[in-house]
Amino acid sequence: MQIEHQVSLRSFNTFGMDATASRFVRCGSVDSILELLHAPIAGNLLVLGGGSNILFTRNVEGVVLKNEIRGIDIIDSDDEFVRVRTGAGENWHQLVCFCVEQGFAGMENLSLIPGNTGASPIQNIGAYGVELKDIFDSLEAVHIGEKSLHTFLAADCGFGYRESVFKSRYRNQFIITSVTFRLRKNPVFHTEYGPIRQELERMAVKELSIRAIAQAVINIRSSKLPDPSVIGNAGSFFKNPVVDHQQFVQIRSSYPDVVSFPAPDEKFKLAAAWLIEQCGWRGYRRGDAGCHEKQALVLVNYGNARGAEIRDLANEIVASVFRKFGVQLETEVNIY
Ligand code: FAD
Ligand code: NAP
Repeated sequence: MQIEHQVSLRSFNTFGMDATASRFVRCGSVDSILELLHAPIAGNLLVLGGGSNILFTRNVEGVVLKNEIRGIDIIDSDDEFVRVRTGAGENWHQLVCFCVEQGFAGMENLSLIPGNTGASPIQNIGAYGVELKDIFDSLEAVHIGEKSLHTFLAADCGFGYRESVFKSRYRNQFIITSVTFRLRKNPVFHTEYGPIRQELERMAVKELSIRAIAQAVINIRSSKLPDPSVIGNAGSFFKNPVVDHQQFVQIRSSYPDVVSFPAPDEKFKLAAAWLIEQCGWRGYRRGDAGCHEKQALVLVNYGNARGAEIRDLANEIVASVFRKFGVQLETEVNIY
């Protein structure tokens, strides 16, 4: 086990925050994780994947465990399904590309999401009408306290809208080491969401395929979202809020254009980006911290913003949305 000291985390988080880790350990196997957990330095541990859903507001006075477990394996298949197991340190989009290439369907709408496969169950990543839970089979994770490996099936993970037990009940208790996906050999296409159909038309796609959908999603995302290698960001900073029918009717009576979608249990999901825009934040910049000009849900670091500046801006946005609409925005990004 190689321990690095006083490591800058700037290149390890897509916000580009310049926090320092007192200690930094790369783990490429379950055994190396167990070795680290048995070592005296193991207290105050932060697990890091691709760093695309985290905002550092301070240094890490402990150990950053960089999960680098690799491997993509087809473990079994029948006429309908194939199961693919990945090491937690595999890049998410590379896995999607591999599956699309093999003709394994289900992940195509989740193309170009940054980060690693190990973090994908943590917030049940989702985009364009598909969530990780739709293709999830199981995962393996090391319990930090017990130093033992556990298997979780979907029913154990408490998947919800950008939620799982790993963000709530088991927060910071497990290190995910592998994730297994169950993908279809005969695709079921999801094109009803957002601008996918328009993009497929623009691409003049004659025969729908998972490859075409993946490309459409890649095109849309590339045209709309800031590339973290150019402008630091962690994607959507807030979740889309879900309100009950009564509150929805109240908001719509004052704001008939409110962007909303029906949600389970007769509730309504409001587009957080629209709420933020209505409060005048889209394109706002203070120093190097800002609210992206094309997508108000994305807070950005134009260069040398500090984590605390992004956090303060986020707090102001939350307060103004609450004042105007009476809706409480929740943060999606993990603030450290
Ligand atoms: P990290 O940022 O490294 O970690 C996130 C959290 O998970 C941290 O709390 C970390 O401690 C913990 N963690 C990471 N790995 C493990 C592990 N192996 N075991 C235990 N805990 C772990 N998200 C979506 O859902 N949909 C999108 O469409 C989407 N688009 C995005 C677009 C952009 C431009 C960006 C920058 C982000 C986007 N995201 C999106 C957010 C982000 O990409 C996902 O949440 C992704 O799954 C995070 O993966 P990561 O490896 O970077 O996690
Ligand atoms: P968009 O297409 O402009 O749509 C705005 C919002 O409306 C989205 O947040 C989406 O909710 C919702 N929406 C659109 N069509 C919908 C439908 N048919 N049914 C229900 N809800 C619908 O959104 P965008 O910002 O460009 O993002 C496109 C997709 O990528 C979204 O699914 C979004 O979640 C995902 N994305 C996520 C992140 C992240 O960091 N989490 C970053 C970028 C993009 P949902 O968000 O609930 O899907």
